[in-house]
Amino acid sequence: MTRKSIDCRDYPDDTGCTLYLSGEEDEVVRAAAEHEASVHGNPDTPELREKIRGMLKNEAAPSHA
Ligand SMILES: [Zn+2]
Repeated sequence: MTRKSIDCRDYPDDTGCTLYLSGEEDEVVRAAAEHEASVHGNPDTPELREKIRGMLKNEAAPSHA
């Protein structure tokens, strides 16, 4: 299973946020949407979640995988 990741540093804004999230796609989308709402002031909407889903990257697999 390849985990997905998202890094707030890739999308700099006034908060200077450096949060990095990784996990299964649905986990990261949910956590990132809640984070967007609480930290970045963007309402957690289905549109936001779709946007986040499109921003996910594949996390590098562990060497033993
Ligand atoms: Zn952030």
